[in-house]
Amino acid sequence: MQRPAGHSVRPNLGDYEEARRSFSWSDARSALDGLPNGGLNIAHECVDRHVAGGRGDRLAIRWLGRHGESEDLTYGDLRKLTNRFANVLGGLGLRRGDRVFVLTERIPELYVSVLGTLKHGGVACCLFSAFGPEPIRERMTIGTARVLVTTERLYRRKVAPIRDQLPELEHVVLVGANGAATDLPGTLDYAQLMHAADDEFDVVATRPDDMALLHFTSGTTGKPKGAVHVHEAVLAHMVTGRAALDLHDDDVYWCTADPGWVTGTSYGIISPLANGVRSVVDQGDFDADRWYQILEDQGVSVWYTAPTAVRMMMRVGADVAREHRLPQLRFIASVGEPLNPEAVRWGEEAFGLPIHDNWWQTETGGIMIANFAATEIRPGSMGRPVPGIEAAILRRDDHGRVVVVNGAPEVVREPLVEGELALRRGWPSMFRGYLGDPERYAKCFLGDWYLSGDLAMQDTDGYFWFVARADDVIKSAGHLVGPFEVESALMEHPAVAEAGVIGKPDPVAGEMVKAFVVLRPGVEPTGELQQELIGFGRARLGAAIAPKELEFRTDLPKTRSGKVMRRLLRARELHLPEGDLSALETEG
Ligand code: ATP
Ligand code: MG
Repeated sequence: MQRPAGHSVRPNLGDYEEARRSFSWSDARSALDGLPNGGLNIAHECVDRHVAGGRGDRLAIRWLGRHGESEDLTYGDLRKLTNRFANVLGGLGLRRGDRVFVLTERIPELYVSVLGTLKHGGVACCLFSAFGPEPIRERMTIGTARVLVTTERLYRRKVAPIRDQLPELEHVVLVGANGAATDLPGTLDYAQLMHAADDEFDVVATRPDDMALLHFTSGTTGKPKGAVHVHEAVLAHMVTGRAALDLHDDDVYWCTADPGWVTGTSYGIISPLANGVRSVVDQGDFDADRWYQILEDQGVSVWYTAPTAVRMMMRVGADVAREHRLPQLRFIASVGEPLNPEAVRWGEEAFGLPIHDNWWQTETGGIMIANFAATEIRPGSMGRPVPGIEAAILRRDDHGRVVVVNGAPEVVREPLVEGELALRRGWPSMFRGYLGDPERYAKCFLGDWYLSGDLAMQDTDGYFWFVARADDVIKSAGHLVGPFEVESALMEHPAVAEAGVIGKPDPVAGEMVKAFVVLRPGVEPTGELQQELIGFGRARLGAAIAPKELEFRTDLPKTRSGKVMRRLLRARELHLPEGDLSALETEG
């Protein structure tokens, strides 16, 4: 493949060490406007700031409809529409801090509603539109939703049946099909309200630590938690968009995540807008051909996606990628799960570009650890902390005290020692609570450190390597086994498309490793292949860590955000209760 033209772009973060040394959040803050008397509002920074700076004609969002329709919104259009929506909320009597839930597909009204809510001083929470009534009810109850923006179709199927269980919900605003009016009893019509609303609105002078966004975690390891984020988070979204996604002024950026997940809000709405770039928003679901076509037709230059999507694209093969001309594409990044080294290399093969893994959580609000455009990528590693973030590996010593083993890149004392990945508290997009669960929140902190619940290690050059979620780690014959390492090894076999690995009680070893494997299309699941894969695992990993049992599956259980739910594989294998399944995607 020829080298894409975009390669000549100079990375924002040229010298990593220097950028870390010289970074300060207060300096970074000077790129934002702020509001009088120390106020700060995400929507002002994302929209009005650019319009006031003479950039109102720039394209902010190119929306691609499911059936080939499209709509362009400039920053100027967004300003007017979000002002109108803020006025609509005012008309409905919304107070500062009230919660506005948005349950729609990725349509322009979603983006307008979220930003308009923020302008009005409300709290926005997006729910993934594929959720069923119960997960919707559960989340709207935790969040005490006062207004819901949804579509007529979704309302009929998912909200009407539970509406009487949501006593706090005062207003339901419906977006009709293709903007047509709706007149269902007990609902208001979005188009009508917007039509009647004024184009001008004075952004509410929210404080930096006022609650702005509510995000539910993916529910991979248990019941989803509602993480509270504040207006100040916009600073981290802007800074990390530049540092970790290398966003430049003239980029065409595509974040494939749905705003129902934190990635789809932090990096599908706020970060690109805060950086004034043009975003592609696709309403459609994952489809390899569709995605390649979008990358080509829209001239996407920076693409932020997830390992699950990369693995699905790998399934259809690199040849399909090479059929498309993607001269603009220059930077690819991924988040959400460990990115197998095989996937990093596949990026090189398919696009002539490696895939940059980065790590963060709903709780961290923004990217914390990343592989950067200008720094060496170590396949399988999450990279190094973004400037402004201090990450560390914590362990308990012989007396049960928690000690910092390794800190920022310059203090790696014990390379490759496993421990809990922690972050020094105080970055702007740090969550400020789990709604309704202050005890759980308090447990996440130890002194100055936020404990992520993930196990990781750090190499001598400061790169962090994901080991496992603390809940997923397998203890086999005195070894701590992270499923990721085993899954990645299996994925190197040409027959394997995906793998999920769990620990199973074993009288001798304590736990033994069991793998569930999805094969590439056209590969037969034979007993021979099963033995071959077990042998392959042993050769790569050694007998102590390699799976002793291996089973073929046509699919793995995943969260709706695309993460393998190992806890469910394990529960089913051991006939244990399956736990909270509200985040489970329907299995194929
Ligand atoms: P829940 O907290 O409800 O179990 P979740 O942890 O999957 O769900 P998210 O906040 O969406 O919810 O995901 C964050 C987690 O995803 C991280 O803690 C980590 O376990 C995993 N993760 C994200 N990015 C990476 C990455 N690059 N490498 C490895 N793991 C990652
Ligand atoms: Mg989590």
